[in-house]
Amino acid sequence: MRFEVSHVLDAIERRLGTDPALAAGVLDVAELIYCADLDGGRPANLVRLGMVVDGLARQVGEEHVSAYCVVDKSLLSNQDLTSNERMVMRRWGDDGVVEVVVGAAARVIEVSELTGLPIVSRVLPAVWSPLPGAGGTVLQPRGPVPTGPSPVGRQLTARWWHCPDPDCANFGPARRGSGQPVPRLRNGQPICPRHDAPLGDSGPRPPQQVLAVRVDGVIRTRFVVTAAGPVVVGRAPDGGQGQVGIQLGPWLSEDARAKVSRAHVSVALSPQGVSVTDLSMNGTLVRLGGAADGELQLSRGATRQLGVSDIVELFPGVEIGRIGALASSRPLDSASVMSDAPTMTFRPGY
Ligand SMILES: [Zn+2]
Repeated sequence: MRFEVSHVLDAIERRLGTDPALAAGVLDVAELIYCADLDGGRPANLVRLGMVVDGLARQVGEEHVSAYCVVDKSLLSNQDLTSNERMVMRRWGDDGVVEVVVGAAARVIEVSELTGLPIVSRVLPAVWSPLPGAGGTVLQPRGPVPTGPSPVGRQLTARWWHCPDPDCANFGPARRGSGQPVPRLRNGQPICPRHDAPLGDSGPRPPQQVLAVRVDGVIRTRFVVTAAGPVVVGRAPDGGQGQVGIQLGPWLSEDARAKVSRAHVSVALSPQGVSVTDLSMNGTLVRLGGAADGELQLSRGATRQLGVSDIVELFPGVEIGRIGALASSRPLDSASVMSDAPTMTFRPGY
């Protein structure tokens, strides 16, 4: 069973991240792992985080949803958890996939205000509350979805920040170019939430645009394109020379696999906006305004500037568009971080 739990925790880890552009919600781990009614198990259980992440994925209709998780530092020595759970959370903090802070609840509220991310909680001013449901955890609407980042939040995320600790996983050199968490503010001064130290300003961040991949009616993943370089999307882009690639292979049907090229399109961001360049054997369709304004066929080497609601079709049912312009058109399949969970964690609460 220990082996199975490790599998679930690994699956949960793949849904955690502190880049606000890729996350769909922010949550306080210390609160949610104590929601024993979600499964009727022991008082605290880190696996419960996976049930909440699954609920978030179903709520927003994104299969590979990412959750911005804040871990209160006291959890790392909490005796209600197993030594394995404490060790895993410490590793997540060291790797920067979660934030470990003193005062997690206040930090969750701050992250939501600065980034516009909805809070998942029963006690904080949340957008959704997790409740036990028939098919797993469901998120019950509780408050309005934030309209977007606050003005201060926009200023903070428009710059790169660096922590005086060179090994800092959240604001160290390794995070530059791949997104950063939002700094914590103390008396108006940006500080590292992990190390409680003033952050240095490393200059302006290139603008970015968040895009989504929809396959067979379901949003499978998000990705960010910045002015720093294009992103190649295809069946299996090689990702060589530091190139960012989005691999669609695992989601494609046999027909789609035969028609979608390994590197099918390149998506770039310039001051003019997002553009797409066809790199494929079979061409790419751009549905202008989603389809309302007609279609445009791109063949190899052709580039097209994308309007805000244009949808790029690599093959029927394999689409790319701005997050917001593209949404899941049907409920998620059974894809769940809990598929490796021991059956006991599925015991219904009611
Ligand atoms: Zn730091």
